[in-house]
Amino acid sequence: MIDALAQAESAVAACLDRATWAADEQDLVTALDVAHRLEQRVAAIKLTLVRELDGRGTATAQGASSTAVWLRDRLRLGVGAARRLVELAATLDAAPVGVRDALAGGAVTVEQVRVIAETVDTVQSVAGAAAADKAVGVLVDWAAQFDAALLRRLGTRILDHVAPEVADAAAQAALRAEESRAARDRHVTLSEQPDGRLRLTGSLDTEAAALLRAAIDPLTAPAGPDDTRTPGQRRHDALADVCRLALRTGELPDHGGDPTQLVVTTTYDMLRQHLDTGTLDTGGHLTPEAVRRLACDAAILPAVLGSTGQVLDVGRQRRLITGPLRRALVLRDGGCAFPGCDRPPRWCDAHHIQHWADGGDTSLANAVLLCGHHHRHIHHGDWTVRLGGDGHPEFIPPAWLDPDQLPRRNHYHRRR
Ligand SMILES: [Zn+2]
Ligand SMILES: [Zn+2]
Repeated sequence: MIDALAQAESAVAACLDRATWAADEQDLVTALDVAHRLEQRVAAIKLTLVRELDGRGTATAQGASSTAVWLRDRLRLGVGAARRLVELAATLDAAPVGVRDALAGGAVTVEQVRVIAETVDTVQSVAGAAAADKAVGVLVDWAAQFDAALLRRLGTRILDHVAPEVADAAAQAALRAEESRAARDRHVTLSEQPDGRLRLTGSLDTEAAALLRAAIDPLTAPAGPDDTRTPGQRRHDALADVCRLALRTGELPDHGGDPTQLVVTTTYDMLRQHLDTGTLDTGGHLTPEAVRRLACDAAILPAVLGSTGQVLDVGRQRRLITGPLRRALVLRDGGCAFPGCDRPPRWCDAHHIQHWADGGDTSLANAVLLCGHHHRHIHHGDWTVRLGGDGHPEFIPPAWLDPDQLPRRNHYHRRR
């Protein structure tokens, strides 16, 4: 086998040396088809090898806790990819021979074969081996026209074709199987990056997916005509907004005796002079601008240290805009006060117009309601905010945007 693979490898290496620029277009298309088919055939070999090694317990004999963990190290795969490889190898091993042949012949892709094997498995359990064999043929035919996602959808009605007498009962069983697969595979991985960021990966089951969408979709829309964030950035900010709201409810389980909140540590002098970075209790670092913005927000507990590191102030209530003061602010602003923004109050932070570290007090006259996006905008951008003669907030655009710097207001929340 190693000899055959070595031959194949040198044949592939020779292909890489061929110049593509001189080739005929039709030849390029044909070559692409062949390369794709080859990829599936190689995948079939790899899956067979994984299955055999898994069956022999090679990974545990070499000190790894499982074949997936061993593969992760050996092939430098992600955890999820390694686990899926081992699972697919086992599923294929148990599937009727026609399923494996379809992949080995390059007729279907790895993703398609996963769907076919799982669908056939369901058919076998509800309608028996004969129906399962028939299902293999139908699904492999369909796979010539449809991608894996569509194949999975069509597969839910496969019994209409191969065993109509049990189709309805089985459709329900398939849905349940799908659900339990989703429940089994559900996970969220949070991996700390060296630069303080967090890589978020995972797979949500149907219910959690619906909850997440219901929670973040309304917040993912652009916050106004000035919102230049990408959809990905808006989803990111929406997720942060949802967390901030959850923290603000005060109903999350306590964490070591303290109510759940985010602790930011910084020194008072440095906060005043906009110099120091802040440290989160998770060990991450923040810029001075971010620390000052977070210190505005009731959901965040700023721990301010003196020059020798003694704790001067751990988030005293009077500095945070909560209770009756927040209600008065909500009555006045009605939501994010930034011009053109429609975010309602529950998504808003109370921003100190003059920061408390600069001597600003905690009063209605020094506060303005801003959504997460516009709160960042005010702290990090060139806009400024003040209260107009009638006590309502107005925003001064930067000179590059409006040379006259005429104040603008939010007309969205005005009820009168
Ligand atoms: Zn602020
Ligand atoms: Zn806003």
